[in-house]
Amino acid sequence: MIPYSRQSINQEDIDEVIRVLQSSHLTQGAEVELFENAICEYIGCRYAVTFNSATSALLAAYSVAGIKEDDEIITSPISFVATSNMFISLGAKPVWCDVKLDGNIDERFIERLITPKTKAIVPVDFAGKPVEIQKINEIAKKHDLLVIQDSSHAFGSEVEGKKIGTFSDMTIFSFHAIKPLTTGEGGCIVTDNEEFAQSLKLFRSHGIVKKQYWNSDMIALGHNFRLTEFAAVLGRSQLKRIDEFLEKREVIANYYDERFQGHNLFTTVKPDMNTRSSRHLYPIVLSPALACPKENIFAELQDKGVGVQVHYKPIYQNSFYKKMFGETHLHVSDDFYRCELSIPCHQEMSHEDAKFVADTFLEVIEKYSYRGCSF
Ligand SMILES: *Cc1c(COP(=O)(O)O)cnc(C)c1O
Repeated sequence: MIPYSRQSINQEDIDEVIRVLQSSHLTQGAEVELFENAICEYIGCRYAVTFNSATSALLAAYSVAGIKEDDEIITSPISFVATSNMFISLGAKPVWCDVKLDGNIDERFIERLITPKTKAIVPVDFAGKPVEIQKINEIAKKHDLLVIQDSSHAFGSEVEGKKIGTFSDMTIFSFHAIKPLTTGEGGCIVTDNEEFAQSLKLFRSHGIVKKQYWNSDMIALGHNFRLTEFAAVLGRSQLKRIDEFLEKREVIANYYDERFQGHNLFTTVKPDMNTRSSRHLYPIVLSPALACPKENIFAELQDKGVGVQVHYKPIYQNSFYKKMFGETHLHVSDDFYRCELSIPCHQEMSHEDAKFVADTFLEVIEKYSYRGCSF
């Protein structure tokens, strides 16, 4: 089966990890710092603080932003649950804003959700396609809110030639195995704000600062959210090939775009002018008539070796959130979940693989085209 996404590890990655495993130092140290410097250089930001996952990074970002009990955060429901979960663990409340047909937060609806309790806007660059970050920043500035971007999908994505990570107060990337760049598990926050960077480093490592000789002092509450040295060296080795990865996914996505152009049973998500998407996912939005047999389409594609997946069940539809906040219905988000399928798009795929996926997908979709229902 061709998975919807997967990592790409070469011999150099392996050699580098082995080199570090054979060294005297395995936990956060010089390699982590080298990786963070390399991230800053690639993104074009002042500070990069790595974490053992993007989930830890989200908790850290929200914490140093001062988000606390009863605060409200405006965010997207079309995301992995961690984006909202980490507010909950601080006692804050996610306020979900509906999305657009591309799965990104609909910036036109943000302002009406702002209350005196709102502290931040947390958009998600779905599938790697940048959100309308300039418009979101304007709204945030007008209402004195922070913008914390969950860019777990969007390492390497750009707006007007500038990398995602240079636009918001803090930007989070995930280095999970299937994300654009991997350290196995891992994540990172980039920022230009020195105070945030210092606080993030404390939060990551027990809130302890070193003093002279044996003396250290714990000055804030912290965790152990550190990355290992061998994960960091893997990340730095991967970073050398990130543009190659992005290029390969772009070629596959462009091929799909061409094959699927003008199709009336589904639409695809196109990057906006003057932007670049990491193409972390290739989402297909089925026409509503096909959403009913989506389970059958999904199963048949998987049977035929096409590893499709669905991104995402709106966060508010999970039982945990229903218990906490009752039923939530956002029109476009609900429809998006009914209609979305992500087809394989990653750097380990050959052109033949992409052709196989496109052929199989079209064959299955056309087979179901007359069996749909409406809702
Ligand atoms: C993967 C992902 C996360 C969580 O990342 P981890 O590194 O697995 O903790 C958070 N948000 C989004 C949008 C993601 O896709």
